[in-house]
Amino acid sequence: MAIISDQAIPVDNVSRFYANDQDIRVAMLRLDQIDPVISGNKWFKLKHNLEAAVSKGYRQILTFGGAYSNHMVAAAAAAQRAGLSSIGIIRGFHGQQQLSTTLKSCMAYGMALHFVSRETYALKNDPDYLQQLSTTFAHTYIIPEGGDNEAGRKGAGEIVTWIPGDCTHICVPVGTGTTFTGIRKALNVQVAMTGFTVMKGGQYLAADMAQHIPAAQNVNWRLEDRFHFGGFAKTTGELLYFIRDFYTDTHIPLDIVYTGKMMFGVRQMISEGYFPEKATLLCLHTGGLQGNPAGLFDV
Ligand SMILES: *Cc1c(COP(=O)(O)O)cnc(C)c1O
Repeated sequence: MAIISDQAIPVDNVSRFYANDQDIRVAMLRLDQIDPVISGNKWFKLKHNLEAAVSKGYRQILTFGGAYSNHMVAAAAAAQRAGLSSIGIIRGFHGQQQLSTTLKSCMAYGMALHFVSRETYALKNDPDYLQQLSTTFAHTYIIPEGGDNEAGRKGAGEIVTWIPGDCTHICVPVGTGTTFTGIRKALNVQVAMTGFTVMKGGQYLAADMAQHIPAAQNVNWRLEDRFHFGGFAKTTGELLYFIRDFYTDTHIPLDIVYTGKMMFGVRQMISEGYFPEKATLLCLHTGGLQGNPAGLFDV
């Protein structure tokens, strides 16, 4: 589907920022650069879902997210470009006055927003609730929260095409783990993978993620859960300082929810000796910049 043009994805060397005496090299795969709106990993998780919706003759998609969900903006914009309408089931109630920038963007891309209580939202994977939604909204292709399904993992696996052959370690920020598991399934198992969970106690995701990876590929990966900075979408002065410092040095903007935390963690883990000498790290810039506070990079 020609929603995003299939151009090369840049790999930026940031080794200078991570200068170390172990000869470790660090680069970022700039998935944030594939499109100004449909950013980063979200496109890869959506592409086969949208393809299925179009080829099966659906007229609209429906998906789930919170008020700060990068997935919702990407889904709304990608659906619009695919000629589909879109419905967003939003967790919690948000008055018109206090709509987040993210939700305003969703509406600008034609998404119809339906606010539900946290209790109802918790049914997002419940077959009866999904059936009920299919009845309420006819001809609708349902995409799970975060694009977390087999089609999402398949698309995420295609990111591997862009991973340079000399990498020894891949670092990926983890929300649902869909992107991570899709890549682990498709990537040479010799390449080690570290997932950086961005919520408190993110280790709980590992068991569920493992279920989506065939046994032969379910090796040489782990989750690192120390760099949540207080919890999902929480920040500290130290994190914001790091993100600005990184930007000043590399000219690469990181987002405060995912990639900022990962790149901070990478620096600390290099200094702890976690990565072997001469390791070649590729960190995925998964996008998310639409969610940054205005003026983050103004000095
Ligand atoms: C959604 C998101 C992630 C998490 O992806 P999962 O596949 O849910 O683990 C990582 N980084 C950014 C910028 C995101 O928007």
